[in-house]
Amino acid sequence: MNEVELRESICKLGVRLYELGMVAATDGNLSVRLGPDRYLCTPSGMSKAEMLPEDMIIADGQGQLVAGERKVTSEFFTHLAAYEERPDVMAVIHAHPTYGIALTLAGISLEAPVLPETVAMFGGIPTAPYATPSSKEGAEAIRPYIRECDGLLMDRHGALTVGKTLMEAFMKMEKLEHAAQICYLAYALGKVAPLNSEQMRKIIQARTEYGVSSPMYGVER
Ligand code: 13P
Ligand code: ZN
Repeated sequence: MNEVELRESICKLGVRLYELGMVAATDGNLSVRLGPDRYLCTPSGMSKAEMLPEDMIIADGQGQLVAGERKVTSEFFTHLAAYEERPDVMAVIHAHPTYGIALTLAGISLEAPVLPETVAMFGGIPTAPYATPSSKEGAEAIRPYIRECDGLLMDRHGALTVGKTLMEAFMKMEKLEHAAQICYLAYALGKVAPLNSEQMRKIIQARTEYGVSSPMYGVER
């Protein structure tokens, strides 16, 4: 995708995040790595449902505005931490998915391997410790986790996903929140057993056969 297409894609996915209830008001931010030291990002303080391609900003690796009329997203350093830790990552999405956040408030983790397709995509989904939203402390809180996973919950705040493309990062966010909804219901209904080692072995084997090489958080291979 060229830069024009990337700007349009960010706007479209912002609308989809809003329609899915994964952001309210000005929540969330999206970014793409354009090249060395250049990141195309959503502006700070705008509804993700109302953005136009020209609202996007370009920032450098110090978080300085390089192009655009608006302010750099306040979570820029959180996105940057993901790009720094993962040279393979080309896009980052941060959202405030309802069920995912609710689980963190209740102290319930999504690390346990219970859903085969979630395990195939992420392994476990860790929860990064609490940090003030939009702070550099928040960037450091996600750093050790994003090295080892493509999606995580941020305690009391939201979720972050990464991908080789914007669409991949978006689908991971969708999948993470879907898993959170299912687990919310299942934990409310009763006891939830993890997948056993034979089931895990077969998921890992199937992933290898499909050529999936993304990290599997917390899974021994
Ligand atoms: P921005 O509007 O600055 O991108 O911040 C939204 C957000 O989700 C903060 O955590
Ligand atoms: Zn946020």
